[in-house]
Amino acid sequence: AKKDGRGCYRFFSPEMDTDVRLQRAFELQLREALPRREFELHYQPIVDLATCRPCAVEALVRWRHPEHGLIPPDKFIPVAEEIGLIIPLGEWILATACRAAADWPSDIRLAVNLSAKQVVAGDLVEVVRRALADTGLPAGRLELEITESVLLQKDHDSLAVLHGLAALGVHVVLDDFGTGYSSLSYLQLFPFSKIKIDRTFVAELTTRADCAAIVSSVTTLARALAMGTTAEGVETWDQVALLRVAGCREAQGWLFGRPVPAAALSFEPAADCAP
Ligand code: C2E
Ligand code: CA
Ligand code: CA
Ligand code: CA
Repeated sequence: AKKDGRGCYRFFSPEMDTDVRLQRAFELQLREALPRREFELHYQPIVDLATCRPCAVEALVRWRHPEHGLIPPDKFIPVAEEIGLIIPLGEWILATACRAAADWPSDIRLAVNLSAKQVVAGDLVEVVRRALADTGLPAGRLELEITESVLLQKDHDSLAVLHGLAALGVHVVLDDFGTGYSSLSYLQLFPFSKIKIDRTFVAELTTRADCAAIVSSVTTLARALAMGTTAEGVETWDQVALLRVAGCREAQGWLFGRPVPAAALSFEPAADCAP
C-alpha cells in the first residue's frame, strides 16, 4: 500500500505496477522518437463537392515504431501532450507539412492539426510565421485545425492567439464540430473561416433524419457567418448526395482517398464524381 497526496491509502496490484512501468517505457520511447526521426506525415485529400477535385490536403501524423509498426495518432498524441513533447513535435509537423505543401499546385491548401497545448504555449504565432517564412508557403494556403478544447482553456487568452494567427493570413478551422460542449456563441467570437462537421454526423446521415437535419443546420449557420464547411469521414456516394443537398462545400473521407505518404499523393479529381 502507498500513501497518496491526500493521506489516503491506495493499493497497487502487481499488474498496476507493470502498467506503470510500461507507461514509463512508452514515454521514453516517444521522447526518443523525434531525434530518431520515427514520426512521419500522411496526407489525405479534401475535395470540393461540386467538382470532386482536391482543394486541400490534411497532414496526419503517425509514429513508425521500430518494433510495433505504424502507430496511429490517437495512441500517442495524448501522451505527447502530457509529457510536453507536443511542442517540439508540433513544430516538426508544421515545418515538415509546409515544406511538402510548397511543392504542390498553388490552388491546393494545407491543413495542419494543432493541439490545445500548442495554442497556450505562448509562441505559436511566431512558430507559424517562421514555418511559412522558411518554406515560402503563402499564409493563405495554410489552414490550422483546432478543436473546441482550445476554446475552453480557462485563464488563457486563446482568442488573442487565434486572432494573431488570422492576422498572419492563415485560416483557422474549427475541427470535430458537434462533438464538444462549446456554445454557438464561440462561432461568432472566434475568427474561424471554416467548420469541419464531425464524422459521427456523416456516418448516420443516410440512416437518421436528425443527423441530416443537424448537418443542414450547421451548413446554413456557417453560410450566414461567411464560413465554409467540410464534412469528415465521407465513405459513400449516398452521403455525398445528401451533403450536396445540405449545402456542404467540401468533403474528406475514404471515398476520395485514404491518408497516404507524400510521395503517393494525387491531385486528380475522383474518377466518378456523381453529379
Ligand atoms: P482528425 O483531425 O479528426 O482527423 C481525421 C481522422 O479521421 C484521421 O484519423 C483520418 O485518418 C480519419 N478518417 C479520414 N477519412 C475517414 C473515413 O472516411 N472514415 C473513417 N472511419 N475515418 C476517416 P487519424 O489519422 O487516425 O487521426 C486521428 C486524430 O489524431 C485526428 O483527428 C487528430 O485529432 C489527431 N491528429 C492527427 N494528426 C495530428 C497532428 O499532426 N497533430 C495533432 N495535434 N493531432 C493530430
Ligand atoms: Ca483534423
Ligand atoms: Ca476532425
Ligand atoms: Ca478527431
